[in-house]
Amino acid sequence: MRFDVITIFPEIFNAYLNESILKRAAERNIIEVKVHNLRDFTTDRHRTVDDYPYGGGAGMVMKPEPFFSAVEHIKSDGIPRRIVMLTPHGKTFNQDMALSMSRQNQNMILICGRYEAIDERVRSLVDEEISIGDYVLTGGELPALVIIDSIVRLIPGVLGDERSAEEESFACGILEYPHYTRPPDFRGLKVPEVLLSGNHRAISQWRRKEALRLTIARRPDLMSRCVSGLKDEDYKLVSEIKEEGKNHEYD
Ligand code: SAM
Repeated sequence: MRFDVITIFPEIFNAYLNESILKRAAERNIIEVKVHNLRDFTTDRHRTVDDYPYGGGAGMVMKPEPFFSAVEHIKSDGIPRRIVMLTPHGKTFNQDMALSMSRQNQNMILICGRYEAIDERVRSLVDEEISIGDYVLTGGELPALVIIDSIVRLIPGVLGDERSAEEESFACGILEYPHYTRPPDFRGLKVPEVLLSGNHRAISQWRRKEALRLTIARRPDLMSRCVSGLKDEDYKLVSEIKEEGKNHEYD
């Protein structure tokens, strides 16, 4: 899967892409990320990418021409790509979108904005506008990395253990269960007995119950959205949790 990123700060990407799972995915040719400097697609001496807004107002607006030239240059190899613009106006990104993008395995161009806005006409180039949440960042670079990271780790073969992605928060509509590692007793804070028992069935039931308990306490909205993902045993666990009363551990 190939990602082409258009940005005025290409250096931002190096540190993140050259570590850990993304680095290995690139080394194994599962992904390729090419970062393009928008300024390389300007035509003036000062490599200008922004200008004053028509109608006045605060901040600068990113000019349309360099974005059009960059996209045309990237697409000139004839490989089909989905063009995504990062913007707070876009559809809010979530795990379902990451999963469907990783399954579609479609190459992407990611357009990162800066300053006050991107000229509205750039929207005519894009297939999709994505926001990573209801807050405003200074640029689209972090959102682009968020999207690349969340998609890539779901591509089969990228994570060492495929179960990691399957069991994670949101993968089946609910939050993931709590994790512990050694020591079993740290300053009186003990690892739940069942996790030390070696009883795999009991461990897996405990994990499912704690995942449900955590989701009920912290993200009840996910519970109502994932009704179709719940099995009979889950409903039994949910009634046990309700009978046990307050979710003191996660409140
Ligand atoms: N004036 C714009 C507004 O109020 O919607 C915000 C512009 S922001 C300072 C500059 C750039 O950061 C945007 O063009 C976009 O690429 C990126 N950006 C900021 N917040 C974002 C978010 N939540 N999701 C995706 N991209 C975002």
